[in-house]
Amino acid sequence: MENCIFCKIANKEIPCSIAYEDDVIMAFHDLQPQAPVHVLIIPKEHIASLDEVSFDHVEAMGWLMAKVTDIAAQLGLENGYRLVCNCGEDGMQTVKHLHFHLLGKRKMLWPPG
Ligand code: 5GP
Ligand code: ZN
Repeated sequence: MENCIFCKIANKEIPCSIAYEDDVIMAFHDLQPQAPVHVLIIPKEHIASLDEVSFDHVEAMGWLMAKVTDIAAQLGLENGYRLVCNCGEDGMQTVKHLHFHLLGKRKMLWPPG
């Protein structure tokens, strides 16, 4: 998708610090980390938000979710972590390419802000 910053990251047009990559997904460190470990996990295919996920995406989404445990282990999150997906305006989503925030290495708060 033209002018999508995360498509550009997935296509290596914009540099980032990659934590994990395969043909389907990429995990890279957030520019403005909100925890000692903060990576964004994206499908390489452009999907605008969680609200746009359909049954066409079952394979990619299943793959992404199944990889979370490996990525978390690789980042040393053996004490737990939080996986967050901001969706739409009320969810405060700023980048319109589906992404999951994987946050760890600190105690999280609940309820979130
Ligand atoms: P959202 O608010 O949409 O859930 O999260 C977007 C996230 O993307 C933010 O945490 C922001 O810091 C991160 N971000 C925005 N632009 C870039 C970028 O160019 N590179 C990286 N690594 N992270 C970005
Ligand atoms: Zn995109």
